[in-house]
Order: sequence, then structure tokens, then C-alpha cells
Amino acid sequence: MSRPCQANINLDALQHNFAVAKSLAPHSKTAAVVKANAYGHGATECALALEGEADALAVACIDEAIALRSAGVTRAILLLEGVFRIDELQQAADNNFWIVIHEQWQIDSLLSFAKNYSGEEKLSAWLKIDTGMHRLGFEPSQSQAVLEQLRSIKCVNDDIVLCSHFACADTPEAAENAAQLTLFDSTFKNVNYATSIANSAALIALEESRRDWNRPGIMLYGSSPFQYGKSVMVDLRPVMTFESEVISVSHVRKGHSVGYSKQWRAERDSLIATVAVGYGDGYPLNAPNATPVMIDGVRAPLAGRVSMDMITVDVTDLPSVTAGSKVELWGEQLSVNEVAMHCNTISYELLTRMPLRAKRQY
Ligand SMILES: *Cc1c(COP(=O)(O)O)cnc(C)c1O
Repeated sequence: MSRPCQANINLDALQHNFAVAKSLAPHSKTAAVVKANAYGHGATECALALEGEADALAVACIDEAIALRSAGVTRAILLLEGVFRIDELQQAADNNFWIVIHEQWQIDSLLSFAKNYSGEEKLSAWLKIDTGMHRLGFEPSQSQAVLEQLRSIKCVNDDIVLCSHFACADTPEAAENAAQLTLFDSTFKNVNYATSIANSAALIALEESRRDWNRPGIMLYGSSPFQYGKSVMVDLRPVMTFESEVISVSHVRKGHSVGYSKQWRAERDSLIATVAVGYGDGYPLNAPNATPVMIDGVRAPLAGRVSMDMITVDVTDLPSVTAGSKVELWGEQLSVNEVAMHCNTISYELLTRMPLRAKRQY
């Protein structure tokens, strides 16, 4: 018998969530974001499941895009940070990778690349404007000039997409969102190119941000994009169910402690279930006492520090738990957002850092 710890990936739920995203903006195109190994869910499997419906896929860098091409993905792939080096431009042209242009050096690279480029395929570019995130993108005041420069480069397609990114879409009521949208629209009020701003949170909650292209990521995986994991008004289904089993149940007398550094102490005679999952499998080390796990469909509190390969859970109130009882760390019964909240992090982090060791079952 092999170790029972695994992440079940429900590709039907993924496709369902994509359809939900699409239905919010049926006339927009959708770039399905599968960066960071599809938020830990397995980039190849997820991309193949989505490419029939998605208008493009989006990843962080060319290595992620090449891995998808090698696995047989044929859809256009958007590189959300564009190229990192000039020699990636040839690969982008050869493979129908669309490049985000966010920095002057990328334009300069395109200009020198264009001098020697004789290929037939033109590059498709998305021009990124910084409307308030202050992470990537051109200043609005430079944008017209940069757009003109980009348009003049012969190996660049004229189907340029103008894009930006929200800083506070996870709090839809924040004034910053409207300010960013206004700045975006005023920057390009006299040009006629496709635009793209919305990530998952904006797509769901900021109707005015739904444009020619939307870029949903986290919602495709069934997790709420909102702060504190606030529930969403749309019907999303969790794609990952992270599971394991109880491998031992033991009695711990009142006053005795459990686990490394004695971080949990029995306040009564207790039953402690040990589960085959730990931080080496992607369960967060900093999950505190009382973080919920589901055992045979019932909530039980974590008791003691997370180990590399095991966790301990207080099942004093669940006396029927035995070795072999099914455990869900997050997924269909317990949202990853709730676990993330206990750990002072966000679902994005828990999902994307799932290690290779956690077997994915599709
Ligand atoms: C990751 C990313 C997205 C997707 O964001 P979600 O919050 O996961 O929907 C969209 N756009 C850009 C530029 C990104 O980097």
C-alpha cells in the first residue's frame, strides 16, 4: 500500500468554473491563467482541459509556455511578464507566444530583433500600462509614444492589446479600482485597440472592468479571490481536494503535550489521530492549533505543530475515528480559503506551493 496522501484534481470542476467565468462576460475573450503549474494543479492537464474553450492561455514566463507546447498544447499562450531576454523573442515568434511589453528595454530588444528577423510569423504584443499597481508597466503619460513605437516595429502584429492590472480588485469597494479604470480609459480614449484589465476578482465584482479580454486565474480553480476568502456570488467548485488518511490513533493523558516543541497540551484525556500529510506535502507548517481538517466528513481541530510528513488532530469528540479514516485537508468539504485564513496567508499561496511530492490524481 502506498502512502495515502494525494491531491485529487477535478477537471470537470475546472471546466465548469471556466464556463462561469465566460458567462460573466460572454462577449469577451478569455485568457485562462495557468501560470505556476496552474496554481499547483498541474499546468499540462489543466491547459489541455481548458484550451478547447479558452481563447488563449496565460503563463508567467517562456519556460512555462514551452513546457505546455511540448505537452501538445496548441492554443496561443500569453507571457504575462513578456520576455526576460532578447533571445526569447525568436522562440516566441516560432511558437505563437504573445508577449506583454512592460518596459522600454523590451521595445529596444524588439527593435534590434526586427532588424534581422525574416520570419513570416509576426509577434503579438500586449502593451502594459501602470495605472496604480506600480509593479509593471509604462507610465500613462508615456503610453501614446510607446504605442506609436510598438506600432512602427514591422515584426509586431497590429492586433496590440492594451492592458493593466488592479492593485485592489480583491476589495471591490476600494476607491482605487475606479481610479485605475478612469486613468486607463483616459489614457487611451483616442485609440482603437482591444483592452484587458480584469483578473478573477474584477471579472466577478467590477462589471466596468470586463473588457475585450479578461484574465481569470484563481476562480478557475474554484477559490474565492476576495479578501478573507469572502464568498463569491458565482457558483465555483473547488478543483483540488487534498486528502490523506489517519494512520494511527492514540490516547494522550490530560496535561501531556503533542508534537514538536510541545505546542499543544491536552486539557482533558484526549484521543489524537495522526494523519499522513505534512509540510513536505504542501500542508502549511504555520497552521496553528485548531485549524480545521475534515475526518470522515466531520470537522476536527489540528493539535500540535505540523511535521514534515504528519499532522496530529484532536479527535476526542470523534471516537469512531480509526487508522484508515479519510481526511480532507481542503477541497470539496473545507475551502482552501478557510485554511489559508487560519494560516495568515491566501489560497493562492497554499495552492501554488503544492510540491511535486503531493501526487496529483486526475
Ligand atoms: C496572475 C495574473 C492574473 C490572474 O489573477 P487571479 O487573481 O488569479 O485571477 C491576471 N493578470 C495578471 C497580469 C496576472 O499576473
